[in-house]
Amino acid sequence: MKHRSAKTTKGEERVRALLEQTASASGEAFFPALARGLARALATRFAAVCAVNEGDELEYLALFDGERVTRDVRARMTDSPAERAVETGWYSLSDGAVDEFPRHAILRELGVRGWVGAPIRSLDGRLLGVLCAMHDHPLPQAARDRELLASSAARCATELAQMRFSAALEASEALTRCILESMRDAILVLRSDGSVAFHNGAACELFRADGFWLMRARLPELLPDLERAAAELGDGDAAESYRRRASLELTAKTKEGDTVHVAVTIGVFELGGAELRTVVVRNIERRRREEQRLRGYARALERANSDLERARRKAERAAAAKTEFLANMSHEIRTPMTAILGFTDILLEDTPTTANDKVDALRTIRRNGAYLLEILNGILDFSKIEANRLEIERLPCSPRRIATDVVELLRPRADEKHVVLALSIADTVPDKLLSDPVRLRQVLLNLIGNAVKFTPAGQVEVALRFDALDQTLELDVADTGIGIESETLAQIFEPFRQGDSSMTRRFGGTGLGLAITKRLVERLGGAITASSEPGRGSLFRVRLPAEGVDMERDAAEALGEDTPSTGGLRAALRGLRSSGRILVVEDGPDNQRVIRHVLERSGYQVTIAENGLIGVELALSAAEEGTPFGVILMDVQMPVLDGYAATRQLRDQGYSGPIIALTAHALPSERQRCLEAGCDAFATKPLERVALLETIAAHMQKATEGDSR
Ligand code: ADP
Repeated sequence: MKHRSAKTTKGEERVRALLEQTASASGEAFFPALARGLARALATRFAAVCAVNEGDELEYLALFDGERVTRDVRARMTDSPAERAVETGWYSLSDGAVDEFPRHAILRELGVRGWVGAPIRSLDGRLLGVLCAMHDHPLPQAARDRELLASSAARCATELAQMRFSAALEASEALTRCILESMRDAILVLRSDGSVAFHNGAACELFRADGFWLMRARLPELLPDLERAAAELGDGDAAESYRRRASLELTAKTKEGDTVHVAVTIGVFELGGAELRTVVVRNIERRRREEQRLRGYARALERANSDLERARRKAERAAAAKTEFLANMSHEIRTPMTAILGFTDILLEDTPTTANDKVDALRTIRRNGAYLLEILNGILDFSKIEANRLEIERLPCSPRRIATDVVELLRPRADEKHVVLALSIADTVPDKLLSDPVRLRQVLLNLIGNAVKFTPAGQVEVALRFDALDQTLELDVADTGIGIESETLAQIFEPFRQGDSSMTRRFGGTGLGLAITKRLVERLGGAITASSEPGRGSLFRVRLPAEGVDMERDAAEALGEDTPSTGGLRAALRGLRSSGRILVVEDGPDNQRVIRHVLERSGYQVTIAENGLIGVELALSAAEEGTPFGVILMDVQMPVLDGYAATRQLRDQGYSGPIIALTAHALPSERQRCLEAGCDAFATKPLERVALLETIAAHMQKATEGDSR
């Protein structure tokens, strides 16, 4: 009992000594004090407090070597007595520690023989470190006080956990500080009285102030409009805007009183029962300047655009006015041309064909008249194309037939010059294609016409091929003529370009043909190219997209197709002898006479009305009397009452007889207008006699059939 109490006393002494040693120590100072105290309490020479770190590391936070305490010594955990202590909860070795753990250098350095230690664990059992005492002799009995070691380890655990926690806190604080300082945006944390609780470096930059000034500033000095704007945004409740983490744009005031445009995001949080507001402020001065500059550009651009738009509209109006003017002019000129060419034809018909001066003169008039008409048509076409008013049709047409017709039409001119005009059509060229026959003919007429015109001797070869793969029609017009200089060739498709002025005198022409041709080809969806060698000849190549036509549709449309064939005029006229009464509503006396002549020669009885009003009266009264006209030929442009109005009046009053419009405009839209007014057909001016008589005959026949029914 005595022995026991003596032991207890000794033990208690040791504990007291240890407590004395460590009681006043805390934090960093605690571990050295504990190491010293532990060595004394356990009567060992050495003692150590080790932390167990990640990666098998044993960090000696305090190593007491009998005299001094060192720290920051590191060793491996594996194969150490500490590892054994962790595994078993308490481990002691009386002697031979260096031999038992040869890889643990510290034991060797200190000459450790006896070792005792226990793990340091947190309350929740996490391993934090190892507490141990070591001796350079066999371990003394006193050192085996397991309880003392355990209670010291428990006390140490609290310190170690605290140390770890502060280290983690410090690291996290440092991280937060780094994040806040690295931000470009100024950050302010404000108390409810508007004073600044925290700011980052960017805030100093933005408000151009030092931290000292900023910490004493109040919100209204820094962002004078913020509270009002936040209240406005939150429908009178600024706090609501803070809760919603609203974004606003306003001005900030620097220490010097300058204003800076800023974008602000506000927020709110609670800390320790106090409400704090965050204000993140971004300088948008540059962005605003950029925006202003951009807005300036945009306005300038808008102005330029509207100027351009005005100019475009003006140009369009001018182009439209030009086209209108040219169309009217051409109509005005074409009407007298009807008379001139008509009478020339009449005179040529009535004059014996044997050559004499009179016939020569008449032929010259005819030729020049036709040429004048050609120029007129060219100008009209070109201005229409330029004003984008050219209408392109898609009808079934035969490229073979068109090419053959054009070649035959031009053959006399070639023959005159002893130029060989050859046409070759590949077998693969389809019989029918969907295209605009009138325009196709115009393109060929122009190219072959030029080739014949500019070839004094040799040959002109026209070739038609079909590229089935591309579904393209290829037209080549090659000649052995005078050729084209390369500078001219480069501009050949521009309007009013001719080889040179002497050329115009020699060959005539307007310089519009190729310009029109190119535009027509393009409107047909194709392309044209030219190559030439001066003195040796030229090659014009046209490629046109060509859609085939199926045969059923082809047969159905065969009747109303394509260009009228030329030649055989007299024969055709003879075949068209007929009878019946025709009312001609036409204001021009010259045209009245030409038309009367043409019709009477074909066997018709002709009545003339000089304007629409008279025409309507005559037509209605004849019908009332039971002797209606077989056909009415109605000019569209007339004084008093024009052809459209007259036709409409007749139809309104129940007149059902055929009415054929006479129009100088060959446009599809014009035709449509005639048909809408109530006409059955139309014929063009200047008169194409065969076509006119054919149309009249067809309708006269319908009228008589109608009567007999
Ligand atoms: P023009 O009405 O004057 O013939 P074009 O536009 O058809 O107008 O032709 C313009 C010019 O191109 C002609 O004046 C001529 O100099 C040249 N040209 C056109 N086709 C040929 C050709 N086959 N051979 C040589 N020169 C040509």
